Amino acid sequence: MSQILYNSTRGGETGVTASQAIVKGLASDGGLFVPARIPAMDVPLAALSRMSYKEVAYEVMSRFYTDFTEEELKHCIDGAYDAKFDTEAIAPVVKKGGTWYLELFHGATIAFKDMALSILPYLMTTAARKLAMDQEIVILAATSGDTGKAALAGFADVPGTRIIVFYPKDGVSPIQKHQMVTQKGANTYVVGIEGNFDDAQSGVKAIFSDKAFKEQLAESGYVFSSANSINIGRLIPQVVYYFYAYARLLAQGDIQEGEAINAAVPTGNFGNILAAYYAKRMGLPIGKLLCASNDNKVLYDFMRSGEYDRNREFHLTISPSMDILVSSNLERLVYEIAGEDPDQTRALMEALFHAGSYAITSGMKDGLADFYGNYASEEETSGAIRKVFEQTGYLIDPHTAVASCVLDKYIDETGDEAKTVVVSTASPYKFTRSTMAAVDAKYAGMEDFDLIKEMHQLTGVAVPAAITEILEAPVLHKDICQKDEMKKVVAAFLKTE
Ligand SMILES: *Cc1c(COP(=O)(O)O)cnc(C)c1O
Repeated sequence: MSQILYNSTRGGETGVTASQAIVKGLASDGGLFVPARIPAMDVPLAALSRMSYKEVAYEVMSRFYTDFTEEELKHCIDGAYDAKFDTEAIAPVVKKGGTWYLELFHGATIAFKDMALSILPYLMTTAARKLAMDQEIVILAATSGDTGKAALAGFADVPGTRIIVFYPKDGVSPIQKHQMVTQKGANTYVVGIEGNFDDAQSGVKAIFSDKAFKEQLAESGYVFSSANSINIGRLIPQVVYYFYAYARLLAQGDIQEGEAINAAVPTGNFGNILAAYYAKRMGLPIGKLLCASNDNKVLYDFMRSGEYDRNREFHLTISPSMDILVSSNLERLVYEIAGEDPDQTRALMEALFHAGSYAITSGMKDGLADFYGNYASEEETSGAIRKVFEQTGYLIDPHTAVASCVLDKYIDETGDEAKTVVVSTASPYKFTRSTMAAVDAKYAGMEDFDLIKEMHQLTGVAVPAAITEILEAPVLHKDICQKDEMKKVVAAFLKTE
């Protein structure tokens, strides 16, 4: 198998191995690591359809992480996709009505971030060993709610690592928050910030690109890395489940080999849908990629007009994990549609940083033909939950509902009859109040935690262990900081001051 090396989207680093890219997280010029070429999947779809999730994972990841040995990669995969998931399928595909739902919420924190964050600690510690590093790895993460807990669960008590998570104090659901602040593990630290997700993400990025601070930490034996979806160690594991979903549909006789399917993806930071795009580029028969946004519809506007503009009102919605105005992973797509031109990419990202907006050329806009963008308002999101539940008895969470609604809009607009997989990114048990209130207004006045039992009664679906185990858990993390204090907080936790 030929080697794949990684380059920064902004041109400042080239020819980096997968191990180096995973440990670094972000390139030193502020760019994102991308594979120098996207490898083809040379295993026939029919063969994939006879494989388990872990076997498909190996086939996909070995095409990208070419400096990992087979033994190393299989060790990572076996460690990640085990009994932490409540089903052996890992990512089951269920058919309800005329639609397939790819359930990515069967891991430790019942949201799709588990798919990648359960393997990232293995990839990172394996990579560090390969590189003979002796520093402790410090994971810094900004979270819109789900990354934080999934990263904490993945890295808690992993030797040689520490993890610090910043979340917007008022921007996550009560259950998401409780999941994080009850996190155990001596190497974990969770801090709320007075600000929104973009503030948290900008703060983390600023720390990453602060050379003096990095040197100061290096002297104390620490090196930073990122568990956010900008890390190539998170992106590639997400490519896996698109192959797996297609393979399941094929195995079940729902599609013919080679038949193109669409994927509807609830989108925030653009990581999940970018993974689908990579899968398509590897040769997976995917037709349209439906990029579904909530009221923070910056991606929808971008796809229509070719202008990305973050200068707008920020909305707190019932799909908080998608409340994002700066979708970091879009930089990787911009790089692709710019013909892999780092200079153009850098110029656009600098415009985004300084002016908060940029416009792509009409040639680049043609590169967006694989995508369809639309959004769901709050009312439409609730409406989609209610509609799917009334028609099929299947209860979806608000993020999944955004994708479901956008799928309806897409079909109305185009009449496309291709089979579609709706990517189901969270269990409704994580968002009980907004989900239950959508089904029946009588639940609207009730509290998230009180609605857990009601949801169980309504659906008969067992309450996940991820919920039952936090109900009695003590709060261990109470710190709150201002958005400009993040660096100080990090230094204090690491005791470098
Ligand atoms: C993170 C998240 C999303 C958005 O995924 P991106 O990869 O950031 O686009 C959607 N739904 C849920 C439940 C999430 O946790």
